[in-house]
Amino acid sequence: MLFKNALICTIDAEAQTVEPFSGHLLINNGRIERIFSSQETDLSPDETVWDLQGRVLTVPNVNFHEHIYSRLAKGLPTNGPMDNFVHILQTLWWKLDRFLDLDMVQASAELAILEAIRHGVTYLFDHHASPAPGAVKGSLQRIAGTLQKAGLRGVLAFEVSDRNGPEIARESIAENADFAAGQTSEMKAMMGLHAPFTLSDATLRRVAEIVRSLKLGIHIHVAEDRADVEQTRKEHDMGIAQRLQSFNLLNEHSLLIHGVHLGDEDYRIIREHGAALAYNPDSNLNNAVGLPHYAAVPEEIPILAGTDGMHANVLRSLKQLFLLYRHQGNSFDKAFAWLHKIFFDQIRFVQHYFPDFPLLHQDDRADFIVWDYVPPTPFTGKNFWGHYIYGMMEAPIYSVVQHGELLLHKRNFTSLDEKALQKNITRQGKRLFERFKAE
Ligand SMILES: [Zn+2]
Repeated sequence: MLFKNALICTIDAEAQTVEPFSGHLLINNGRIERIFSSQETDLSPDETVWDLQGRVLTVPNVNFHEHIYSRLAKGLPTNGPMDNFVHILQTLWWKLDRFLDLDMVQASAELAILEAIRHGVTYLFDHHASPAPGAVKGSLQRIAGTLQKAGLRGVLAFEVSDRNGPEIARESIAENADFAAGQTSEMKAMMGLHAPFTLSDATLRRVAEIVRSLKLGIHIHVAEDRADVEQTRKEHDMGIAQRLQSFNLLNEHSLLIHGVHLGDEDYRIIREHGAALAYNPDSNLNNAVGLPHYAAVPEEIPILAGTDGMHANVLRSLKQLFLLYRHQGNSFDKAFAWLHKIFFDQIRFVQHYFPDFPLLHQDDRADFIVWDYVPPTPFTGKNFWGHYIYGMMEAPIYSVVQHGELLLHKRNFTSLDEKALQKNITRQGKRLFERFKAE
């Protein structure tokens, strides 16, 4: 396949720059075979040719904190208080996850792949919970199978927690370990942990053994609400990062989610161990848990963006982060520098798991997306970030190519049977709705 007339945004990871240029991209056998400049006219005539007419082509988007299991939550009839963070968990999320069976998990994954592809997301770090008896074992495989059939890459984890009793906690640890034992080049594993305030020391000790023996990163919510910080202080007499460190759970493959109420001592420990923070601004606003003071986070801590299951549009999360950073009184220069830092932190982090994540050079894996955006002004390495924030982030995704396969083109699915998937999604969504109604 030949993609003609694109603004190809090649990445120079060393120099930390994005270098757009006008040209054509030839893919073959899942790789970028050649990149031609726009002056080149000797293009192989027998290729399938797609004329992108000056649209922008970049690396795919990565969602660093997703909850595929939340996909069927829209419009559910909740019945209970929603006036604070813990009540939101009790009234919605901790009911929903216990109502899920494996068929609903699969339908959630089916909806998640449709939404992800529409937003140019082909790499997903998922934090899964389906803690009902019978719905733990094999749940990650169900999700992995669905992602893989769609051509997406995933890093999956099951949220271990003590909130559903010791038996489910043990099963959840085993589910993480089983999945980790079968990792492939397309599907990777992390040790999923719900949040410090629902994890006992005994459980963390068992988790620590697996993390050490299988060399896993952890994927955990931390300090999302003050309740998490206060409970850790009260019951363990320490800060959250200190508690995780005491079980040797922090490393450079680890993802700490939210971190709204972390303090300087937490940052010091996180930095020392090289773990990353993933921010989910829409979710923080929706749950009214507050926002991190972003500029107080040490530069050395990698910052990533996720959606926390609120939606699949991780670029909207990035845009929110930029706007909130401005709102917190930082200059445009500082805000652009922060976005630039996050962009390259994200590439480094995803390459921990997928070393062949492409930078859009010849011979790279052919994973890329095309934005339905034709820049109205010149497009260079220097003003890329202005186009990125104010142009591309507001534009729909035009095409998605993953490992050389066209998944979306002209905003339509080209590899998935959307209608058939939708049928199963609504069938399972109705079952979940009925469970909420009956409760
Ligand atoms: Zn989350």
